Amino acid sequence: MKFVKKFRVEPGSDVHLGSIDPSFHGDYANDAEAAQELQRNLTRITELQRKLYADRTHSLLIVLQGIDSAGKDGTCWHVISAMDPQGVQVTGFKQPTPEEKEHDFLWRVHPHAPQRGYVSIFNRSHYEDVLVVRVHKLAPKEVWKPRYDFINEWEKLLTVENKTTILKFFLYISKEEQLERFKARLDDPAHQWKISASDYSEREKWDDYIKAFEAALSRCSTEHAPWFVIPANHKWFRNLAVSSIIADTLDDLNLKLPKPSVDIEEIRKLYQQAKNDEDRSKAG
Ligand code: AMP
Ligand code: MG
Repeated sequence: MKFVKKFRVEPGSDVHLGSIDPSFHGDYANDAEAAQELQRNLTRITELQRKLYADRTHSLLIVLQGIDSAGKDGTCWHVISAMDPQGVQVTGFKQPTPEEKEHDFLWRVHPHAPQRGYVSIFNRSHYEDVLVVRVHKLAPKEVWKPRYDFINEWEKLLTVENKTTILKFFLYISKEEQLERFKARLDDPAHQWKISASDYSEREKWDDYIKAFEAALSRCSTEHAPWFVIPANHKWFRNLAVSSIIADTLDDLNLKLPKPSVDIEEIRKLYQQAKNDEDRSKAG
């Protein structure tokens, strides 16, 4: 529970990112020191997701947000590596299509909410509609301002009506770290495809983004759908914290494997019969 408590944005509180250290790495000196605990978390996630899938009463929605290069893709990959892909759906949210623009902002999001038994991961999300939209004035204030309340209501609907557990992670990196990651991408042919000129024009709007994130974190961290601010300058610590919060939260659901729908003793007899037949035909 230590990371749940430490990084959860208390509902109703005002978030000031300036007072949070994106390089924080707790009691762990480095990657190697955290490795064992990270592995334990991933193993727990594997077991718990198996129960979630079999039980079919609950679902989990994981929202990943963060500035460019904060590690949304990396976190997604890491978390999923512990899960049976059959029970997971990942959705990346890009600029809305012309059709999507003709609808309310939640219209395109709702179909991707998880069905019972499943995990949905949002790589970006409905929050873009109070982030990029606000920063770039893609809609007037009268349009984006009421969205915080709409979001809270919509998320509540998912939790109440469909027993969806919602975890929202804001991956927080520093401006210096971002520039280092941009450089690393430039130098690594395997990552060059991710580079765009807009990375740099967006970077110029850093302060506006921070303000928009602070508003979203402050107004939309609720009991039913909390935000977590994850110090993400160290990728290994980010993975440790996120995996730990997911594992602890799933643990709290007290998921049980469903009882077999058949009489196991009767089935055991069928097995024995088949086995005897097999042995006889082999002896044959
Ligand atoms: P990426 O995640 O790097 O593939 O980039 C996706 C792009 O889509 C980002 O620049 C987002 O800001 C943008 N985007 C996502 N959702 C919205 C939205 N609702 N309105 C405008 N732009 C969006
Ligand atoms: Mg990008």
